[in-house]
Amino acid sequence: MLAQQVQIKPIQRNAGVRMIAPTVRKSVKVCAAQPKRVYNFSAGPAMLPMDVLQKAQADLIDWQGSGMSIMEMSHRGKEFDSVIKRAEADLRKLLNIPLNYKVLFLQGGASTQFSMIPLNLAKEGDVVDYVVTGSWSKKAFDEGKKFCKANLACKGNNKSVPAIDSWKLSADAKYVHYCDNETIQGVEFKSAPNVKATLIADMSSNFCSKPVDVSKYGLIYAGAQKNVGPAGLTIAIIREDLIGKARPSTPTMLDYKIHADNDSMYNTPPCWSIYMCGLVFEKLLSLGGLEAVQKINEEKAAVLYNTISGSNGFYNSPVDPAVRSLMNVPFTIPSKPDLEKVFIKEAGKLDLIQLKGHRSVGGMRASIYNAMPLEGVQKLAAFMKEFAAKNQ
Ligand code: PMP
Repeated sequence: MLAQQVQIKPIQRNAGVRMIAPTVRKSVKVCAAQPKRVYNFSAGPAMLPMDVLQKAQADLIDWQGSGMSIMEMSHRGKEFDSVIKRAEADLRKLLNIPLNYKVLFLQGGASTQFSMIPLNLAKEGDVVDYVVTGSWSKKAFDEGKKFCKANLACKGNNKSVPAIDSWKLSADAKYVHYCDNETIQGVEFKSAPNVKATLIADMSSNFCSKPVDVSKYGLIYAGAQKNVGPAGLTIAIIREDLIGKARPSTPTMLDYKIHADNDSMYNTPPCWSIYMCGLVFEKLLSLGGLEAVQKINEEKAAVLYNTISGSNGFYNSPVDPAVRSLMNVPFTIPSKPDLEKVFIKEAGKLDLIQLKGHRSVGGMRASIYNAMPLEGVQKLAAFMKEFAAKNQ
């Protein structure tokens, strides 16, 4: 990184307010060389593709000759209209979203969906089913209980998914909610569970990591900040017949119909996040779509799981091999748990960062979303082998 002396032009007096004293010389860091990049295994917000960041950087001050940043322009202008429409069209292509589904760009994080879903899809006394396989589906269940008769149809042990024929599904459930990938425990469904009621999936941490048959779902939702963009945007893909059924007391901002009828612009949408997700969707399409993306993700995950299983028990993955996540790989050092802190510290020195497991479960966790390159995973695997050999 090269620090250069840059002459900042003095800003003129503006309506009587002096914004910056004239003739200020400031030392500004200008990135002339390759910027420093680490391999960031954070569970989210997480890495974004380098070329997407560079494109955003190039567009930052003047988006396509508009003389404005995306962050500065009206969401109702023709420029942003083209951004949001393109983002939606590309997402539709990626996930092959049927025409009878709406794509909504929302705020409030995936957590807001936990209450939005029961408020829109069930009345107070209605029965709804929740499948709990980890921390996030448990949170959704706890929120659902506030609004209707939420039935705990299945409670996993945070390491596996109980066989579907053991689930206690209700005959009259308005929906079945589950989490397709438990970010904290690293438990991932390998296909959509086959249920009669309307299926709802939290796909926050594996959204766009593999192809999905959207037609099996009533609603899919995901926070953007893991696989497809920065924080601030939640994407909901909802079948049209489920829209327009909110309870009368539902706050306006929590009614899917309001967002659907206004093309996600009832109020100011998270413009920057939508723009960034649009760039990511474009990139995923250019890679060959989600089949190609899945292959890369499988390869990356195999590198880590093989390192764990080839470590002679030095490392352990607590998760049933049948449902190990391609996105979040938790692991421990079972015989010497005190070494886990050392592992995380030493990895950090090699620019392998954010490997600490979630505070509720401990151990380590490597989140390897779409934007984590294979080289990052290989570097982590090499370090794991070296660390094990040194400490076995
Ligand atoms: N669901 C899952 C699977 C998650 O991983 C997260 C965030 N880590 C959430 C829901 C909550 O998302 P948000 O922080 O966007 O509310």
